[in-house]
Amino acid sequence: MNDTRQSVLNIETLGHIDHGKTSLTRAITNVWTDRHSESIKRNMTIKLGYADAVIKECQDCPEPQRYTTGDKCQSCGGKVTPLFRISMLDAPGHETLMATAIAGSSVIDAVLFVIAANEPCPMQQTKEHLMVINLIGVKNVIVVQTKIDLVTPERARQSREEIRTFLKGSTIEGAPIVPVMTNKGVNIDVLLSMLVKMEKPKRDTSSDPLMYVVRSFDVNKPGINASEIKGGVLGGAIIKGTFKKGEHVEIRPGIEQQSQKAKRDSYKPILTPIVGLNNGSEELDEAKPGGLIGVSTEIDPSFTKADGLVGHVVGRPGKMPPTQSSITFKYHRLKRPDLEEPPFKENEAVILGIGTSTLVGFVRGSKKDNIAVDLRRPVCAEAGTKIAMLRNLGQRWRLTGYGIFGS
Ligand code: ZN
Repeated sequence: MNDTRQSVLNIETLGHIDHGKTSLTRAITNVWTDRHSESIKRNMTIKLGYADAVIKECQDCPEPQRYTTGDKCQSCGGKVTPLFRISMLDAPGHETLMATAIAGSSVIDAVLFVIAANEPCPMQQTKEHLMVINLIGVKNVIVVQTKIDLVTPERARQSREEIRTFLKGSTIEGAPIVPVMTNKGVNIDVLLSMLVKMEKPKRDTSSDPLMYVVRSFDVNKPGINASEIKGGVLGGAIIKGTFKKGEHVEIRPGIEQQSQKAKRDSYKPILTPIVGLNNGSEELDEAKPGGLIGVSTEIDPSFTKADGLVGHVVGRPGKMPPTQSSITFKYHRLKRPDLEEPPFKENEAVILGIGTSTLVGFVRGSKKDNIAVDLRRPVCAEAGTKIAMLRNLGQRWRLTGYGIFGS
């Protein structure tokens, strides 16, 4: 029996707004990622902002009809056996939030790049998301051509040509293009079959564990008895190692100490035992990289409510990267024909995406391609983490380049 408790593939959906990312996620997982629906608000999976599914296989049917995420074979109605679990994460659409999309790339194994057939390609966000794909260097990319039921066969073919032309010269020039009808489930089995054949990432489960906090919340109902209050809950992506229920962890940078004079030391790490681990549907004794993990703690829930600890890093005390308030890195400019980038100015405000943090910083100096930035809030990240850089050009925050943390 395959172990399907934790995801083998973390899949991000990218693409222009309204091109059908949410419908595609639903067609694959049968879970809506709409976070505003009251009826599903209490479900942990929804709070984590992602949807999970287990890909299953029927032994009696041919490819690709043999694959499903349902309880029985979609083709013959027969018994299916579970293969592995996948997690689908929804990416934010606005460019100011693209730092988050890139930051999330440290935990992304594959991308479904959604492009609708009923609009000319590329639309603005489609262009920006191809930039993100080029930047993060993810190889496992499937282009999903949506809304083909809204166009003539002729337009569908034309759209496919537009997509091919658009991808030319990018890192995903030869990526497969799969036309789907999400509302009728057409070709969803083809996508599942491609995910089954996709090369799976190798996970490091033995290093000192490290987790990026992606969500954090307070699970208590208003007006609850003080004696019944539950500690704060974190939703995180483990990037390496294994966390065990009951072990003590440290969270960095931590809580700001207002009484301190020295700015650099004004954040105090949080210490807590792990009270519980959850994969969104069941409790776990230990958790390793793969999908998002719910971590119950003894932290005062006022710190974790409303994503208060997003961007923090969880690890073992004494085994964590240092917290830094200023960073220096080599800046790599993106080739953007739509942007003219001026040299950096002293004290210019920039937005950086590092790990799952989005941080405001001020340029302290730049020499050739090396740039030094003072951060308004400190950051804790592992060396080698990608840094996304946004500059304010023409009254808008634009993604202009990237760097590598600690290089
Ligand atoms: Zn079957």
